[in-house]
Amino acid sequence: AKQLRLILGDQLNPLHSWFQNVDDDVVYVIAELKQEADYTKHHIKKITAFFAAMEAFATYLKEQGHHVCYMTLDETKEYDDLPDLLITLATKYSCETIYYQQPDEYRLREQLQQMAKKIELPMFEEDTEHFLLPFEQLREHFTPKKHVRMETFYRFMRKRFDILMEAGKPQGGAWNYDSNNRKSFNASDLKQIPRPLVFNNPAKSYLTRIEDHNIKTIGESSEQVDYPINRQQSLQLLNYFCEHQLPNFGNFQDAMTANSPYSWSLYHSRLSFSLNCKMITPLEVIQTALHAFTHSRGVITLPQIEGFVRQIIGWREYVRGMYWVNMPDYSEQNFLSANNDLPQYFWDGKTKMQCLKSAITQSLEHAYAHHIQRLMITGNFSLLAGIAPNQVDEWYLGIYIDAIEWVELPNTRSMALFADGGWIATKPYAASGNYVNKMSDYCKNCRYKVKEKVSEDACPLNSLYWNFIDQHYDKFSKNPRMSFPVRNWDKINSDQKIAIREKAANILSNLDKL
Ligand code: FAD
Repeated sequence: AKQLRLILGDQLNPLHSWFQNVDDDVVYVIAELKQEADYTKHHIKKITAFFAAMEAFATYLKEQGHHVCYMTLDETKEYDDLPDLLITLATKYSCETIYYQQPDEYRLREQLQQMAKKIELPMFEEDTEHFLLPFEQLREHFTPKKHVRMETFYRFMRKRFDILMEAGKPQGGAWNYDSNNRKSFNASDLKQIPRPLVFNNPAKSYLTRIEDHNIKTIGESSEQVDYPINRQQSLQLLNYFCEHQLPNFGNFQDAMTANSPYSWSLYHSRLSFSLNCKMITPLEVIQTALHAFTHSRGVITLPQIEGFVRQIIGWREYVRGMYWVNMPDYSEQNFLSANNDLPQYFWDGKTKMQCLKSAITQSLEHAYAHHIQRLMITGNFSLLAGIAPNQVDEWYLGIYIDAIEWVELPNTRSMALFADGGWIATKPYAASGNYVNKMSDYCKNCRYKVKEKVSEDACPLNSLYWNFIDQHYDKFSKNPRMSFPVRNWDKINSDQKIAIREKAANILSNLDKL
């Protein structure tokens, strides 16, 4: 009996067991869909990268002899949505069953599960064979609406997959070298920052279609897709990372600069798009990096490789678990009752705050910012300014090349906004201008003065920070991990407190003007 098998845009995994044998009774569907291109307003580079990777995958499968139905927006425009398309194709190819790989997004999984209940054709869900931890085991580690320590999960993963372990103990004696990973750049470090590896994949045909179908996008377009669009390019990027960036990955993991031609990429791997589209697996990324570490004759030190391993087997697998046990409630969390509007400069970069301007402009240009820019620049600002989580989520989900809800939402709601009240982080990642000044050179050329709190030119982050502690005083004074800032706020004299509140109130009612 013939089968229709759906491949979603983030399921481009040539190693999947589906593709190991050619079967004439199987038709694969890969389709550009309006429902996916406009469920949120995406960066134009994100859509072109997805479309290019999907087409490359369809071509690859055809070359292997598989029967592939690849459809562009021009061909799918007459269908209302994904179920409509699948039913039509199943009839057209006389398929008696429909198979799909489990979507990583709640929204899509719901859509397909609802469809399966309604139609007569049997539909089956299969594993994507991508993540290290099987989906069925997530419940053993994650409990809905409960704090789960990332570090505990990470140590379990290290042991379970025997990564950087020696006789049951962590290699080098410690689980975590985070404290070594907090360097900022000095003048000579800046000269050493490696050029990022970018590709030159043509984007013209996708740009034309995006325009023809009137799909609203954000960010700067380009006639090239500079991200990997297939497995071979993804492996090239991985090897480039291991050679040029891994030796300093941990050292400069949290550092930021505006003074390098490669400020946007630094020592980060930019592998998230390849990983999230499943062109490469987390295990092979780790194994390749471990191999480079072992053969580097000391060029790559333990803190560098440990920092990288933690991101992939720790954070990445952890946020997936958090997402699935907490959806759909997750998307409604707003612990701090934040309800301000996202300022216009998030969409055009036109702000005098140098840190925000750099992070936003770079995001609009490259559809990329690294973790600390996302967490401690745009994220921290949104937290302190009390921006509504739905609006912040929408921005992050649209702008980044790697943004898919399962990984975007826990990072935004929990890590950046503390909107979960502590499921992931035990306290908000809130910081004043001092942190930005320590980890970057943004403040040097900023119109605002980072050392000042309430003057006309004072850095807005300073009064917003103390105002944030003041505003949520009741909630934070119950949190032992917030006792330090709460006590510091208590120590500020009442005149100063009044001045800070006034300054912050003024900023908050003129957020668009910063
Ligand atoms: P590197 O710094 O080279 O890290 C290596 C890999 O580790 C990444 O490719 C990624 O797969 C993984 N990783 C690192 N940190 C995290 C994390 N916190 N959560 C999950 N995986 C992690 N990541 C996404 O993939 N998609 C998103 O939509 C996304 N949204 C984010 C929103 C906010 C507010 C924050 C604070 C973080 C977000 N992240 C997201 C996590 C992280 O910032 C990106 O994975 C990373 O910047 C991607 O760049 P890279 O590949 O160069 O990462």
